[in-house]
Amino acid sequence: MSEYKYVGQEASKELISDIVQLLEDNQVASLLIGTFMRGLLYQPVEPNPIDLVIDNKLITGDDGCMENSLDRAVRILHGAGFPDGLEYNTPGLKCPAVMERRNATREFLFGPRFKPYHSFHLQGETQGGMHQELRLYSKSDYFWAVPDFKLGPLDRSDHPDFILANDSRCLEGPGRFPEGPCRVKIPSPVRYIEAMLLLMIRHGETEDSQNFWRTEILILQINVNPWPFKDEDFHPRVQYWWKAAKDFKEHFIDHAQWRKETPHISELHRALQQEGTLKAPGFPDLYLPS
Ligand SMILES: [Zn+2]
Repeated sequence: MSEYKYVGQEASKELISDIVQLLEDNQVASLLIGTFMRGLLYQPVEPNPIDLVIDNKLITGDDGCMENSLDRAVRILHGAGFPDGLEYNTPGLKCPAVMERRNATREFLFGPRFKPYHSFHLQGETQGGMHQELRLYSKSDYFWAVPDFKLGPLDRSDHPDFILANDSRCLEGPGRFPEGPCRVKIPSPVRYIEAMLLLMIRHGETEDSQNFWRTEILILQINVNPWPFKDEDFHPRVQYWWKAAKDFKEHFIDHAQWRKETPHISELHRALQQEGTLKAPGFPDLYLPS
């Protein structure tokens, strides 16, 4: 068991590296998303929460018992001193997780979006007079079609599914992690976009061009240089939609653009319902959870 202790650090690349290392030392694989992922792909906007997706599957514990890796992640972080109780108090700052729970109608009004499995409080201020958070998400809820997350470094620098946080292709400066051994990974933008598309379909939001998942895709489309988006890197059944979507660079999806995209999204939806799993050699399988 690692001796790592959280002593009130603010969200930073160093803290993320420590957390990912701590989790990996305990056989828990994770993927960085959110603002810090976007910071690697284009300029970060502001100091923000740390968002980690945990590859939730059953793993064997030290005692030989099976344990879900998400529950293990919570247990390990709790043991390392990351606070998650109601008694946590940052003077003058509100807790975003508590605010979110009070605003339960938000999802009802604005549709589904990422919801953490567990949140820890971090010191450090974020916008709106709140403290920062470390938020854990379940892979099976959002990134089920992304292949199993990797422990340790990647076996190749041009990995189709993941990018190391100190990859030389990522933005130098505030975003990119320092050179040297690195275990922090982000999804490749292509896998991220496919995941958002599947979420759109799963949540039945294919009627709404302004939905949360399509907006996540649009943010990458507008801001990220073209290097991570090679047409052929998308699953063959997604390529038709991507060709209709990729050149759109406005700040919201207008009706003309939506009319171009919906036939392809509907076709993908139909195929996923009828064929169950869309397989293609060399690509992750696309499917909807039952
Ligand atoms: Zn909090």
